[in-house]
Amino acid sequence: IHLTQHDTLTGLPNRSQLHEHLAQALAIAHRRQQRAALLYIDIHQFKRINDQHGHAVGDRVLRAFVAQLQRSLPGDALLSRHAGDEFVVVLPHMDSVGEAASLAQVLLNQGEQTRVDGLAELGLHLGIGISVYPDDAPDPESLLQHAETALAAIRSQGTQGYRFFTPSMNARTQARRNIETDLRQALSRRQLSLYYQPKIDAGSSRIVGAEALLRWHVKGQELYKPDQFIPVAEDTGLILPIGTWVLRQACRQARLWQQQGHRIPVSVNVSPVQFEHADFHGWLEEVLDDSGLDASLLELELTERMVMSRGDASSKLLRRIRQRGVRLALDDFGTGYCSLSYLKHFPIDTLKIDRIFVRDVIGDADTATITTAIIAMARRLDKLVVAEGVETPEQAAFLRQAGCTELQGFLFGAPMPAAELERLLGEPA
Ligand code: C2E
Ligand code: MG
Ligand code: MG
Repeated sequence: IHLTQHDTLTGLPNRSQLHEHLAQALAIAHRRQQRAALLYIDIHQFKRINDQHGHAVGDRVLRAFVAQLQRSLPGDALLSRHAGDEFVVVLPHMDSVGEAASLAQVLLNQGEQTRVDGLAELGLHLGIGISVYPDDAPDPESLLQHAETALAAIRSQGTQGYRFFTPSMNARTQARRNIETDLRQALSRRQLSLYYQPKIDAGSSRIVGAEALLRWHVKGQELYKPDQFIPVAEDTGLILPIGTWVLRQACRQARLWQQQGHRIPVSVNVSPVQFEHADFHGWLEEVLDDSGLDASLLELELTERMVMSRGDASSKLLRRIRQRGVRLALDDFGTGYCSLSYLKHFPIDTLKIDRIFVRDVIGDADTATITTAIIAMARRLDKLVVAEGVETPEQAAFLRQAGCTELQGFLFGAPMPAAELERLLGEPA
C-alpha cells in the first residue's frame, strides 16, 4: 500500500493519496464551517538543474527541498508530490485566508534556502498558486485546477512568489486558449498582414523608414491586437513560423519600394523566442537571399533583455547579423535593464526611446531630464535615436531640441497598409 500511495523518491503521498486526503479535509472544513486552502508549489526552471547537473543531482535537490519544506509546515498540513517538481500542500482548516498567505511566504523563504552538499548556491525560486475552499470551489478537482491556474498566472508573468486564484484568471486562460486555437489557422487562412508606420527625419520631416507591425484581421475587423496574440504565439512556438513570415513579407515590401525608387529601410520586430532559436541566423540569410533586398534596407528591432540575456553568445550573433549589413535597433529602450555603458559592447545602430518617456516628457520634469540625458549619451556613442509614440507637436519640438534623429508616432502617421504609406512617399525624389 505504501508503494502505490507514496512517491518513491520523496516518500511523500502521491497524487491519488492527495485526492483522498483533500476530500476528507473539505468534508471536515464543511462540518466545522471553516475554510481550507490548497497551495500548488512549483520550482521555477527546475529543468535547468536537471539539464546542468543530471537527474541524480536533480533527485537530491528534490529530496532536500522536501525536507526543507517539511520543517516549516504546521502539523495538520499535508504535503504531497503532484508531479516532477510540483508539490501540493493542503491546509485543512483556517480561521482566515491570511493564514494561507503567511504559510506561502514561509514556504517561499524556506524553499529558496534549499542546499545540497557539493553544489554552490542553488538559488531555487518558487511559484505558489493558492485556492480557497469554499470561496473558490466546493470540490477537490476544481480547487486543484484553480490553484494551478493561479500558478500559471505567476509563470506567464515570469515572476515568482504566491498568488491567490481569482475568477478573472480563469477568463484570461480561457481567452488565451481561444487565441491559440484561432492563431493556429491564421497564417494559412491569410488573416495576418503587415501594417507600416512611418518614421520621419527630425530635421527635414521626410519619411526615412517604416516599422512593420503585425495585424490580424478577419472579414475586415481586427480580431486581436499584437499585445494580445504575440505572447500566446511566443508561448506556443507559433511565433517561429509567424516571425519568419513577417521577415519574408517585410523584405519583399522593402524590395518593392526599393524598385520604385524609395530607399526606405523597413524595421521588423523580433521576438526573443525567434532570436534565441539556433536557426535564426539561417532563416534570416535565407529570407534576405530570396528577397534580393539590399541588406542595409532591413533593420531588426530587438529588446534590451534579448541583447543582454546571453552575454557573449548574443553579441557574437549580433555581430554576424551586422556584418551581413542588416541594421540593428534596440526597441522600447529605457524599460529594461540595459545600462548605457553596455551599449558600446554591442553593434547597435539605433536606440528607440520607449513611449512611456515620450508620453511624460512635457508634463514631468524628471522624465524630461532623463530623456534628454539618454538622447545626449546615445548620440555621443554614435547611435541614431528614434522617439516612439510621438503624439503632440510639443513632444516633437522637445525631442528635436534634445537631439533625436527620428520621430515616430500618431502625430506623423499611425500604422497603415503598405499602399497608403506608398501614397505618402509620393513620387521618388
Ligand atoms: P513596438 O515594437 O514598441 O511597436 C510600437 C507600438 O506602438 C505599436 O503597437 C504602434 O501601433 C504603437 N504606436 C505607434 N505610435 C503610437 C503613438 O503615437 N501613441 C501610442 N499610444 N501608440 C503608438 P502595436 O502595433 O499594437 O504593436 C505592439 C507591440 O507588438 C509592438 O511594440 C511589438 O513589440 C509587438 N509586435 C508587433 N508586430 C510584431 C511582429 O511582427 N513581431 C513581433 N515579434 N512583435 C511584434
Ligand atoms: Mg518595435
Ligand atoms: Mg517600441
